[in-house]
Amino acid sequence: MAGTLYVVATPIGNLEDITLRALRVLREVDLIACEDTRHTARLLAHFNIHRPTTSYHEHNEAEKAERLLEKLESGLQIALVSDAGTPCISDPGYRIVRGAHQRGVRVIPVPGPCSFIAALSASGRASDAFTFLGFLPARKNARTAALDELAGEDRTSIFFESPERLLETLEDLERILGSRPLTIARELTKIYEELFSGTAREAVAHFSKKPVKGEVVLIVEPGASTPGSLDSLDLAVLRARIATLAQTLGLTKTEAVKQLARELNVSRRELYRRLIEDEER
Ligand code: SAM
Repeated sequence: MAGTLYVVATPIGNLEDITLRALRVLREVDLIACEDTRHTARLLAHFNIHRPTTSYHEHNEAEKAERLLEKLESGLQIALVSDAGTPCISDPGYRIVRGAHQRGVRVIPVPGPCSFIAALSASGRASDAFTFLGFLPARKNARTAALDELAGEDRTSIFFESPERLLETLEDLERILGSRPLTIARELTKIYEELFSGTAREAVAHFSKKPVKGEVVLIVEPGASTPGSLDSLDLAVLRARIATLAQTLGLTKTEAVKQLARELNVSRRELYRRLIEDEER
């Protein structure tokens, strides 16, 4: 009979956050599949758990997943853990879980801490609908494009961010999305835990004081949900603004129109249409 794959959440900092069920499962399984065995060894040592571990986060992840799946098919009980929090949230563990489903191996979640859920729950930001976007792209152009997409987003957006890139991302956020309320949740459940609330500009001022350290979740509130109307706006004034944006920020005309549409919270397509109609008159 095939074994079972337990997907076990572990603490994101404070070890008291481990659940009783996670402890029992980790004590009972035949094998614990980890991102980094040295990291998980510290957790297991703290709770006096002595089970074999193996890393699934190696050079050849596909081959490693295959070997774990064979073990599951041969009847082993395996716990899948990540370095911190809930496994398979922006880490490669999902390959094993997907493979287990495909082969008819039972998958059991053992829920517990998750950084972005903890951040959202303590942020006071609108949480009835939200999008979790994982890590923002590291490259500037791709990151700008990802943030551009948020201009029309009417749900709260959540990202993981590295401390080294936080300031740059906040500057991009301010440039692209203006003064949206946001929360920066840093080092949750750890000694230097911090929940910062404010605008991107305020956050830049706050986090520029000293190097940002630790782990960070960024939560951005949606823009105004109903796009504004162009009816009351003077097209000559809009053209002048587009020229100024193009000149001062070095933007192409298309980019300047995009930027203006964001500033005014109007539909970019509608703004183009009005400008072209006006030109043809
Ligand atoms: N599995 C994890 C979870 O459930 O939250 C997330 C793994 S993801 C690869 C790692 C990212 O999670 C970090 O770069 C950081 O953005 C976020 N993170 C993890 N622990 C955190 C903490 N204690 N405080 C704030 N963010 C944290």
